[in-house]
Amino acid sequence: MKKLRVKCMKCGKEWEKETSVSWGPDDFTSSLCHPCFREVISPIIHKKQLREGNFDCFGKSGDDCDQIQCKYKEWCFHWEETEKGTEPELPTMYSTSSPM
Ligand SMILES: [Zn+2]
Repeated sequence: MKKLRVKCMKCGKEWEKETSVSWGPDDFTSSLCHPCFREVISPIIHKKQLREGNFDCFGKSGDDCDQIQCKYKEWCFHWEETEKGTEPELPTMYSTSSPM
């Protein structure tokens, strides 16, 4: 596996991800590290949650989520798992410019 450098576009933190494509030593891709990603995405999801009549609990509840109907629940929990991984996946709702 080749390695591609990834740089957080917010705080500048760098890490590597595995890739099947060949990259030069100077190539890197911009992304967001976990703390920055969470910082960026949380207000957006909170806004959506409130608009949908839920609590703005995304990322706050830990394992004690009782919002069974919440459609962000799995993502919320999945988040805790991915945080132990190496790279956050940017959700489409962040990369697309859908009206909030
Ligand atoms: Zn960062």
